[in-house]
Amino acid sequence: PARPCLEALQYEDVAALLPVPGTESDKYRRGVVGVAAGSRQYPGAAVLAVSGALHGGAGAVRYAGPGADAVIARHPETLVHPGRPAEAGRVQAWVVGPGLGNTPEAVEAVADVLAADVPVLVDADGLRLMDTGAVRARDAATVLTPHAGEAAALLGVAREEVEAGRLAAVRELAARYDATVLLKGSTTLVAEPGGAPVRVNPTGTSWLATAGSGDVLSGLAGSLLAAGLAPRDAASVGAYLHGLAARRASAGAPVAARDVAARIPEVWRDVY
Ligand code: AMP
Ligand code: MG
Repeated sequence: PARPCLEALQYEDVAALLPVPGTESDKYRRGVVGVAAGSRQYPGAAVLAVSGALHGGAGAVRYAGPGADAVIARHPETLVHPGRPAEAGRVQAWVVGPGLGNTPEAVEAVADVLAADVPVLVDADGLRLMDTGAVRARDAATVLTPHAGEAAALLGVAREEVEAGRLAAVRELAARYDATVLLKGSTTLVAEPGGAPVRVNPTGTSWLATAGSGDVLSGLAGSLLAAGLAPRDAASVGAYLHGLAARRASAGAPVAARDVAARIPEVWRDVY
């Protein structure tokens, strides 16, 4: 029989993939996730990406960038470095992009992270600043997390074209960048380069269409990458927990992105 072109993770699939520390574990073995996000213009994106990362299963979160003061004020657990990612110390995965802006420091941060020999998740401004050749040349995994507008810009087409053909768009991006691609929206899709079925996320709520919710997802999925999940598992488990946390936080009412992050532990507990 022909292979299905779509698949969805079930509750028990997600439970089996959650990174749970063994008795002999320590914070380094659990994985350190680096977050390169935020700017003087968008300090909140750094805070939200770190909040997602802190609840994603890695043992520690390292932040590099100009938002260190804001991050530490909200999340004192974070290891902060005010400078560029290349000087921040060892991590098992990087998240780069949310609220990075378009400054020379932002360009440098994206290049630093893409040059690292660990899995990298690129979101938001990072998607505009990344060099296609640098992405394709990477040996370690790359995960891209565009929404439809960002996907359209990467493909050089109108946003409507992506919306009209989301499956084709996510596959094309995965092939073009040789990367795992998570296309956000009302139906979130995760594609791999090569022939693997595209994953459809079965959780979520349209209340997630709110500023900062994508930043939380990038930190969460990046943390799962640092904990050792395969790129498409990190992306799809991240989207799954994010959608459940949003439903729980919202319960049919408006929700702020920070409340989605705060609900990650309880949906994790439910699933596990
Ligand atoms: P961003 O566009 O980066 O802020 O990310 C927005 C987040 O909200 C992503 O996780 C999207 O999948 C999610 N989202 C946006 N619009 C919808 C919608 N209409 N229904 C469900 N989820 C949505
Ligand atoms: Mg975004």
